[in-house]
Amino acid sequence: MIAEVIVEITSSNVDKVFDYLIPNFALESFSTLVGRRVLVPFGNRKIEGYIINTKESSNLDSSKLKEIIKFLDENPVILPEMLNLMKFMVEEYNLKKVDVLRLFIPSEMRGEKIKPLYVNAYQKVENFDLNSFICKKNAKKQQEIIDFLKNNEIIEAEQVKNFSDSAIKTLVNLGVIKKIPQEKYRTPKSNLQIENAKITLNNYQQKAVDGITAAGTYLLHGVTGSGKTEVYMHLIERILKENKTAIMLVPEISLTPQVLQHFTERFGENVAILHSGLSAGERFDEWRRLLSGNAKIAVGARSCIFAPLTNVGIIIIDEEHDGSYMSESNPRYNTIEIAKFRSKQNGCPLVLGSATPSLESYSKVIDGEYNLFELPVRANGKDMPEIQIVDMLGEIRCGNTGIFSRSLLANLEECMSEKNQAMIFINRRGYSSFMMCRECGYVAKCSDCDVSLVYHKAENKLKCHYCGKRFHVLDVCPECGSKAIKQGAIGTEQVVLELKKYFPDIPIFRMDNDTTRNKNGHEKILSEFRNHKPSILVGTQMIAKGHDIPNVTLVGIVDADQSLYQSHYKSAERTFALITQVSGRAGRSDKLGKVILQTYNPKHYVYKFAKLYNYKGFFDKEINLRKATGFPPYSTIVRLLISADSEEVAYEKTKNIIQKVREIKEQDKENFVYLDAMKSPVGRVKNKFRFQVLMRVVNWEKIRKQVYALCDNEKDSKISLFVEINPQNLS
Ligand code: ADP
Ligand code: ZN
Ligand code: ZN
Repeated sequence: MIAEVIVEITSSNVDKVFDYLIPNFALESFSTLVGRRVLVPFGNRKIEGYIINTKESSNLDSSKLKEIIKFLDENPVILPEMLNLMKFMVEEYNLKKVDVLRLFIPSEMRGEKIKPLYVNAYQKVENFDLNSFICKKNAKKQQEIIDFLKNNEIIEAEQVKNFSDSAIKTLVNLGVIKKIPQEKYRTPKSNLQIENAKITLNNYQQKAVDGITAAGTYLLHGVTGSGKTEVYMHLIERILKENKTAIMLVPEISLTPQVLQHFTERFGENVAILHSGLSAGERFDEWRRLLSGNAKIAVGARSCIFAPLTNVGIIIIDEEHDGSYMSESNPRYNTIEIAKFRSKQNGCPLVLGSATPSLESYSKVIDGEYNLFELPVRANGKDMPEIQIVDMLGEIRCGNTGIFSRSLLANLEECMSEKNQAMIFINRRGYSSFMMCRECGYVAKCSDCDVSLVYHKAENKLKCHYCGKRFHVLDVCPECGSKAIKQGAIGTEQVVLELKKYFPDIPIFRMDNDTTRNKNGHEKILSEFRNHKPSILVGTQMIAKGHDIPNVTLVGIVDADQSLYQSHYKSAERTFALITQVSGRAGRSDKLGKVILQTYNPKHYVYKFAKLYNYKGFFDKEINLRKATGFPPYSTIVRLLISADSEEVAYEKTKNIIQKVREIKEQDKENFVYLDAMKSPVGRVKNKFRFQVLMRVVNWEKIRKQVYALCDNEKDSKISLFVEINPQNLS
C-alpha cells in the first residue's frame, strides 16, 4: 500500500504530493491512515508530513519508493472534512497545500515543540490482594493508601497530593500499587467575575432562535446591545442537545475575557477557546480537547474556523463585517467563505451577526441569498445613546484650538462628577502620526519601509508600524538643519496626557496595541477600568467592540474623520461601522448614554446616517455609489502582489504579468472594469520592493483559473507572488 504525503518543506515553490510505502505494522494496527502525521525520509533528511490519501500502487518505480519511518500521533489529526476544505482553498485562493494544512493544526505541534502533559495517578497492581497486605508498624501513611484503595479503584492525579510521597514510592517498590499516567489538559482560566443572570429572550430574540434551524446562511442584524450573544448561546444550547458541535467566532480584538467567561459559565468544559493570548500548552490542549470530542464548542478568533470538530451543528460569526476575518498574509483567505464551505459540508446553519453588516452581506439579504433576522431594539429597552456632532472648525473659529471640543469637556466634567465612566476613542496608537520639518517638508521614514514613522512619547522613539523598527526622535532636520519640527495627527498617548491636564485626579487608562502586549493585557486594563468610578478609558478600535460596561455613560470620538479619508472603497462603510460600534458602548444598563463625535466635516452623509442609527439609509446611499463606480459587491477587486529584494526584478516580473493579464482581458473585455499595474502604495516593506497588478472584474469565477495558471507559471525563486481578493488593505 502507498500513502500520498504532503511534506513540511517551506522554502520551495513546489507544491507536490509524494508517494511513500506504508510499513506493514501500520496496515495492521490503524483503521485510518488518512489524516495522520508521519515522519518520512526526504533527500537525506527526515521530515514531517501528512497522509492525505492511500492507494494500491504508485506510478513510480517501486524500487525508488521509500518507507514511512514513523507515525507521530495516536490518531489522525486532519479530519476528512478538512481535506476537502484544503482542496477548496487551494483552488479558490491559489494556495500551497502545505500552507493550508498548517492552518489546521496548532503550530506548536510541528517539530514536536510541545507534547501532551501527563501526571501520575495510582492503582493497585492487578491480582494483588490488599487485604493480605500488612503494613509495618507505624507505617500509618501506607495504611492510609491501602485503606483508600480498598474503597476506590484509583488515586486520581489530583488526589495524589493528599497522600505521602514516600509512602507511595514505597508501595510502588513493593509491587503493591503502580503508576498510571493520566493526561492533564492545560486549560486557560479567567479571573474575571461577572454575574450571569438568567435571561428570558424577548420576542425578537425568540423569533431568531426559532427561525434559525435549517441549513443555510442567516444574517442577524441587531443594534448594539440588542442581545445577540444571548441568541448565539440559545442556538448553541439546542445544538448540544442534538449531540452536535458548534463553532463561534469573534474578532480577535473583541475576544474579551467577558465573552469567554459568558461561554464557559454557560457551557463549562464543553467550551474550548482558541486565541493568540493562550500559552502554547493551553492552545495545544484546547485544540486536542476538540479533536477528541471532549469539548464540543470552539470559541475563538479567525483561525478557529479550522477547529477540528466533526458533526458541526452551527457556525456563528459575530461582528461579521470585521476586517480581521480576512487573512491578509500568506495563506490569504476569507473566513466567511470558509465558514460557508464547512456549513455546506455539515448541512448546518451559518449565522452572521452584526449591528453594521458589511455591504456585501446585506446585499445578499436583498438578493435573497441570506435569510434576515432583526433585533431592532436594545435588550434593556433603553433608547440608543444620542450622538452629538461637533464641528471642530467651529471650535477653532471660537478660539478653541485644543484637541477636545468644549462640549466634550463639559460632558466629561458632568460624567465624572456623577461618578460615571467615559470612553474616548482615537484610532491611532502612539503620540503623533509623524514628525515633519516645517522648513523643508522632510518627513521621518523607516529605513526598510516606505512609510512615515510614528512618534511614541513614553519611549521617546519613532516607530515603524509596518516592521516594528525603532529610530531616534528628530530634534533637528537631517536635511536642512532646521529645529522647527512639527508633529502630525494625535494618537492615544497624546490624548491621555491632554486629559490628565483637565482631570488630574481621575484615573485614566489607555488600551491599544502598545499597552496590551502582555498576556491578559486586555483583561487587566478592563478590570481596572471597571473597578474605578469615575474613570476614563482611552483607546483604539480595541475599545470599540463587544465591551459591556454598565457605568459608561459617555463616549467621545476625538477624530472621526480619520478613517473616512483613507483611500479605500470601504472607508465610508468602515467609518459608519466604527461610529456605531463605539457609540454602542454607552448607556448599556439603566443609565442613559451620550456620544460626542468631533469632525471637520459635520455634513458628511456618513455622520448624518450614523447619528440617526439609520443603517438601511446608509446602505442604500452607499450601495448606489458602489454600483455607479463599479466597486464591490458589483465587482471583485483582485490584486496580484509581487515583491522582491531587487526593484528591477520585481518591476520586470510585473511587466510580464500585466502583459499576460491583458491577453486574458482581450478575450473577455466586458468582464474588466479596471486593469493596471503599478508600484504598490507602500513601495517597500522590510526592504522588499512591492509592485502590483490591480484589477476589478465583474465575474471573477470566470477567469480565476486562467489568472492562477498564469501566476503559477510566473512564480520563481527570486520573487514572491500572492493573489489577494477584495483585500481590506491596499497599501
Ligand atoms: P450585543 O452583542 O447585541 O451588542 P449583548 O449580547 O452584549 O448585545 O447584550 C447586551 C446586554 O443585554 C447584556 O448585558 C445582556 O446580558 C443583556 N440582555 C440580552 N438579552 C436580554 C434579554 N432578553 N433581557 C434582558 N437583558 C438581556
Ligand atoms: Zn528640513
Ligand atoms: Zn519599517
